[in-house]
Amino acid sequence: MTPSEERPCVRAQAGRVCREEGCHTRLSIYNDGCYCSVHEPMSVPRTRGRKLAT
Ligand SMILES: [Zn+2]
Repeated sequence: MTPSEERPCVRAQAGRVCREEGCHTRLSIYNDGCYCSVHEPMSVPRTRGRKLAT
């Protein structure tokens, strides 16, 4: 146990899985995020360059 290892998000590391609850997708060591491509918050499916005007 290392107290200094209390990071919310570690760097690319082998054997990590998606942080999304119930998701056990293994993350690639090249994946910098904490989530798999499906749950990646930064890549939510959105229309690019267009705003949804309601
Ligand atoms: Zn996921």
